Amino acid sequence: MYRKNAWKQYDASTEKEVMKFAEGYKEFLSSSKTERLAVKEAVKRLEAHGFKSVEGLKKVAPGDKIYFLNRNKNVCAFVLGKEKVSDGLRILGAHIDSPRMDLKEHPFFEKNEFAMADTHYYGGIKKYQWVTIPLALHGVVCLKDGTTVDINIGDDDKDPVVGISDLLIHLSADQLVKPASKVIEGEALDLTIGNKPLKGEEKNAVKANVLKLLKKKYGVEEEDFISAEIEVVPAGKARDYGLDRSMVAGYGHDDRVCAYTSLMALLDIENPQYTSCCILVDKEEIGSVGATGAQSNFFENAVAKLLELSGESHPLWSARLTFEKSKMLSSDVSAGFDPLFPSVSDPNNAAYFSYGLVFNKYTGSRGKSGSNDANPEYYAWIRKVMDENNVCWQNAELGKVDQGGGGTIAYILGNYSMDVIDAGLAVFNMHAPMEIVSKADLYEAYKGYKAFLLG
Ligand code: MN
Ligand code: MN
Repeated sequence: MYRKNAWKQYDASTEKEVMKFAEGYKEFLSSSKTERLAVKEAVKRLEAHGFKSVEGLKKVAPGDKIYFLNRNKNVCAFVLGKEKVSDGLRILGAHIDSPRMDLKEHPFFEKNEFAMADTHYYGGIKKYQWVTIPLALHGVVCLKDGTTVDINIGDDDKDPVVGISDLLIHLSADQLVKPASKVIEGEALDLTIGNKPLKGEEKNAVKANVLKLLKKKYGVEEEDFISAEIEVVPAGKARDYGLDRSMVAGYGHDDRVCAYTSLMALLDIENPQYTSCCILVDKEEIGSVGATGAQSNFFENAVAKLLELSGESHPLWSARLTFEKSKMLSSDVSAGFDPLFPSVSDPNNAAYFSYGLVFNKYTGSRGKSGSNDANPEYYAWIRKVMDENNVCWQNAELGKVDQGGGGTIAYILGNYSMDVIDAGLAVFNMHAPMEIVSKADLYEAYKGYKAFLLG
C-alpha cells in the first residue's frame, strides 16, 4: 500500500467509515483550540474508555488502562501489555500546542478611543495571515486566592469576536512595497476589543468599559491578567473542505490531527502484547521546552512510576532502560505537496494528500541539522507492519534540500536511545489560521497508529 491513493482502495462501506471518523475529529478539533482544552477533551475520551487516573492507584496489572496528567497541559496514557513494562513500550507522541498569539501580561490599552489588547505571537507564523479574520480568546486567569477562571469568548455563535485590522487597499501604496515579513510586524499584532466609552469616565473610558464587562462576566481585574494564559486563536469550527467534502479545514491540525488519531488508536487497544502509550505534549512549537514540553522529565518519571506500580524495579535508570527497548512514532504533520507551490518540494520525496500516513525519516534543516534520522533497521520493521495491516503510507522530506526545514519531538525521545521515526499527515497551509488535511489520510493515520501499537 506504499504510495497509493487511499480513496481508490475504499469500497462504499469503508468510505462511509472514513467520513464518519472525520466527523469525530472535527468535533475534537473545534473544542480543542488550546493545549488545555485538548487535554480536557483527551481526558474526557480516556475516562469514557475506562482509563483511570494514576492518582491513588496502588498497583497495575496487564490490560489495565491508566493516565498521568501534567499541569492540565500534558497527558500520557497507557494500556498495560502482556509483556513486562520493562520489555519496552510502543509509544505514539504528538503535540497539542499550535501557533497563535498570546495576550501579554499587561495587555490592555486605549488608543484613539479604541480599547486594544497587546499580544506576543507563539510559534512560527506569517503575521500577515492573522489580520482581518475573526478571532476568539481561550484560556485561564489564575487568581491570588488559588482559584482559576476559564475564559472562553468568540466560539459560541452568540459571542462577539475580536480581530486585528489591516490597512485598506486604497491607502496601501507604502505598505505593499514592503517584504511580506514586514507588512505586519509582531508588535503591531494588537487586538481591537472595544469602541464604546464608559459613561461618566474621563480618561481611557473605552478601556474602562471593557474592563468593567470582564469584571462583570468573569470577576477578574486588570491586574489579574499578569497570572493568566489567554490564547488568541481563529474563531469558528472545523469544516468540510472541497465540494466533494474530501478534506477538513480548521485551526490547529498541526498537530492536533496526529494527537487525535494517536489517541483514538490507543482507545481501541485491548490487552496488547507490549504496553501501549500515547503522550500528548505542549510547547513543541517553541522548542519542546519547559515542564509540559517533550523535554520535561515528566514522561520519564511517569514510566518509572508505572514500573513501580507493576511490581517491577522503579529507579529512574530502569525507566531509561525501558526506553532503550521501546519503539516510538513521533506523530507530527508533514508539508503536503501543493500544486500552487510545486517548486519547494522534491516530487519523489514529497507528501501527497490522500496517499496515507507520511513517514519522515528525518526533518531538520541545512544538512539534516537537528533531526532524528531514523535507523533503517527500524524503518524496515515499520514498512512490514504497515504493509501487513494494509495501511496506505508514503515517505517524504519536509521540502527540497535547503528550502527551509523544521523539527519535531522525535530527536528528544531518540536521545533516550529509543527507535523513533516521524509519522503523520500531510497538511496544507501549515501554521496558517486555516490548515487543511485529507479525510483519507486522517483515517489511514489512525489505522497506521493502531497497527504500530499492536506490531
Ligand atoms: Mn508539528
Ligand atoms: Mn508546527
